[in-house]
Amino acid sequence: MYDVVVVGGGIGGLTVAAAISARGMNTCVLERQSQVGGCVARVKFSGYDFEPGMGLYTSFGPGGIYEKLFSQLPVELPAVSLVTSPYVKRSADGTDIRLSNEDLYTIAGGPASLAERLAESIKLSGGNVRLDSPVLRLAFDDSNRATGVDLLSGERVPARKAIVSNMTVWDTYGKLVGLNRTPPEIKKHLNTLRGTGVYVVYAALEEAAVARLPGELMLVEDSEGEFTMAISPASSGPEGKRAVTFTYRMEVEPWFAYQSSAEDYEEWDQEALERFWTRLHTAMPELGGDIEIIETANPRTYYEQTRRKLGMVMGVEGAAAMHRTVLPNVFMVGDTVSAIASLDSVVETAMVVARIQL
Ligand SMILES: Cc1cc2nc3c(=O)[nH]c(=O)nc-3n(C[C@H](O)[C@H](O)[C@H](O)COP(=O)(O)OP(=O)(O)OC[C@H]3O[C@@H](n4cnc5c(N)ncnc54)[C@H](O)[C@@H]3O)c2cc1C
Repeated sequence: MYDVVVVGGGIGGLTVAAAISARGMNTCVLERQSQVGGCVARVKFSGYDFEPGMGLYTSFGPGGIYEKLFSQLPVELPAVSLVTSPYVKRSADGTDIRLSNEDLYTIAGGPASLAERLAESIKLSGGNVRLDSPVLRLAFDDSNRATGVDLLSGERVPARKAIVSNMTVWDTYGKLVGLNRTPPEIKKHLNTLRGTGVYVVYAALEEAAVARLPGELMLVEDSEGEFTMAISPASSGPEGKRAVTFTYRMEVEPWFAYQSSAEDYEEWDQEALERFWTRLHTAMPELGGDIEIIETANPRTYYEQTRRKLGMVMGVEGAAAMHRTVLPNVFMVGDTVSAIASLDSVVETAMVVARIQL
């Protein structure tokens, strides 16, 4: 019997589990994927190791949130270093401005290393991280107290003290707690809460093109909005090439509403890519022919990978700190209950839940 069961091995779930297992609580993380990390899990295609996010990682400095967390754990923080290449904002008129990168860090091995290090910490503290373990719902006793979770496989995993959900706020209620146990005012609130999705293009870039760019992290504005570019280190691809990740925010509904068949969906994805390809070459002419598309990810891909409602992976605008649920021993962590959808904000709120609620 575990003290605490954590549903989901994203950064939120792993942080809370690492913090409480280091304090001696018997903890189990249940992750449906075959690797930890959720939104920052490793992205590998065709021999390239892609940056899963926008490459903007802050608060790793002295006195920052990671130092506080790892000072409590039996493992070291993965090696980090300040970003050396300029962080450049390109305006729609083509002007380049160097942004401050005083608090921007490169994490050795990428952000997935952070997730993996937290998983290692949980195990070293005597806890368990079970992969390929999708959770179906909470288990209840006769007095309606949550007593653990039921896995899709039919297995029950009991929790003596608490259950922590790293699922989104929508899925915590819709799937774990169950809509029949969700009060109408919360249902209403969840219906009005909105998050955004992203479209991501993973590409291979020749070193010659990297040398022509003003920086390896860029925020590019154009007539359609903005997108980011994060070039991974030299070790991210075959010799002479680099993995590069382009990301822009987008509405999620069309990805789920308009396609009536798999062909429709393919066509929709192809159109999104072609539109972006034109934008990219217009805004960044120095890429020339030295770039090759390897893969894309859209709200449907993110839904498949993380099971987050409508693939809304960029948190919730103005999210309230709702760590408690309607059930006294069920809590939430993650970017839909954190101030902003960033790793440091998710870590910070998960540490609050670990310290105050558990
Ligand atoms: C494209 C992109 C770029 C980003 N760039 C940056 C950046 O540059 N800097 C930054 O700080 N932040 C960035 N972010 C934000 C940051 O990565 C996320 O906010 C953060 O990783 C979310 O962590 P989480 O724990 O809330 O959720 P998730 O990472 O979504 O973790 C939830 C986990 O729960 C699992 N799960 C779901 N359902 C079940 C179930 N039924 N049973 C078991 N497990 C389940 C999922 O598989 C997943 O592993 C980016 C996000 C995206 C998507």
